[in-house]
Amino acid sequence: TVRTRIAPSPTGDPHVGTAYVALFNLCFARQHGGEFILRIEDTDRVRSTAESEQMILDSLRWLGIEWDEGPDVGGAYGPYRQSERGDIYAEYTQQLLDAGHAFKCYRTAEELNELREARKAAGMHLALKPDDLALDADEQQRRADEGWPFVVRMQVPKEGVCVVDDMLRGRIEVDWAQVDAQILLKSDGMPTYHLANVVDDHLMAITHVLRGEEWINSAPKHQLLYEYLGWDMPVLCHMPLLRNPDKSKLSKRKNPTSINYYRRMGFLPQAVTNYLGRMGWSMPDEREKFTLAEMIEVFDIYRVSLGGPVFDREKLTWLNGVYIREDLDDDAFLQALRDWAFNEAYVKQILPQVRPRVETLSQVAPLAGHFFSGLPAITEAAFDGVKLERETLVKLLQFLVWRLETLPAWHKEALLEEVKYLAGHFDLKMKEFLAPVFIAITGSSASTSVMDAMAILGSDMTRARLRHAIS
Ligand code: ATP
Ligand code: GLU
Repeated sequence: TVRTRIAPSPTGDPHVGTAYVALFNLCFARQHGGEFILRIEDTDRVRSTAESEQMILDSLRWLGIEWDEGPDVGGAYGPYRQSERGDIYAEYTQQLLDAGHAFKCYRTAEELNELREARKAAGMHLALKPDDLALDADEQQRRADEGWPFVVRMQVPKEGVCVVDDMLRGRIEVDWAQVDAQILLKSDGMPTYHLANVVDDHLMAITHVLRGEEWINSAPKHQLLYEYLGWDMPVLCHMPLLRNPDKSKLSKRKNPTSINYYRRMGFLPQAVTNYLGRMGWSMPDEREKFTLAEMIEVFDIYRVSLGGPVFDREKLTWLNGVYIREDLDDDAFLQALRDWAFNEAYVKQILPQVRPRVETLSQVAPLAGHFFSGLPAITEAAFDGVKLERETLVKLLQFLVWRLETLPAWHKEALLEEVKYLAGHFDLKMKEFLAPVFIAITGSSASTSVMDAMAILGSDMTRARLRHAIS
């Protein structure tokens, strides 16, 4: 049986790229009557969070992307979270060490820097090879005896050409000279992506790996690891990366990349999934509108074209409109609105914001409108009442966006900390600092509390509005 997987790292917002790759893995598996697995690659213990994992699962499900096995649904090949598979990686690391395919490296960060600097000065490739890293035997023994921290690295050939096959790209050739003695096990005993990914793809009986093009450079190392371990490698297929309309790699600096954002903006899941299906792929009859079931039915991986697919918000918006007009009768439209924001849970969050500020019920909608809208229409003139230079104001909002991007938890206290910190940085009173933020978020100069609004609107919508206000 064909078995494919999506293997996201829960280190941030659920990325549209993850959904796109998941969709193609799902279609490929279903088309072959196979299975689609979700595995969480959370070996980076510092950056991985449970919230991020939950958001990834939620947003894929929201899009209608369902997996047969995964951390939440179980399966015969679990556990499906790499942080729970430590013993397995330790075992295979030992096997690689015993066979001489891997070695313990006691080099310090300083020494590694020196080695790299020396190579740079000599105009050599920066990849560090086992020979470069080797210590003389006594020194190696001394460091081992003294219990120095070490990493385990893989052996790699010094020279020659590595040939990797790719379903879409054919033969890919990489000079071994460019490939470094990859770390497999970190000094904290956690595996790196490379080791865990190879071990798990094998143990989970994955037959086809469809993943983003950004992983092509890892393929030689992976192929070698499969060889070392005596395993067959799954068939590789590197998908073209999504791009901004200016053709650069889709990035949150230029385009919202979080599925949460699109959900929050009121896109329909079926329209987003449909649109993702058009990224580098088309139906045999080239029609633009199709369901997931229709895509699965005629799916053909060889119809993927490698020219970078542009993720264009305007096209997606157009398609979403088509869905609203053509596919939703009144009941379905009402249900879509309920699922989105017109529901008790959401409205209840807003009540405390409006109660102290209204005298009649008819004042509620105008006052709370920004809780139910996308990006407010804002011109430079909107900031006329703010007593700050335009340049300062732009900088201030930009800094806030950057700070909020890396905020690990989204709640009012944490937001307040950030705002206080930045106000201090700009030498402004809280109130002065918040004035432009208020306009960017609520679209007016008189509304509900801006800090609460940000907390309720969530990270994606908040950042999108801040960015929009100065774009
Ligand atoms: P940004 O560039 O917006 O900061 P990122 O590169 O930090 O995004 P990651 O967190 O590294 O995003 O990646 C999250 C997931 O999304 C990864 O699985 C990655 O393969 C995928 N991904 C990121 N960018 C793209 C893209 N342009 N096209 C397809 N998939 C992508
Ligand atoms: N954890 C990797 C990611 O975040 C998986 C890459 C792969 O599919 O091999 O994209």
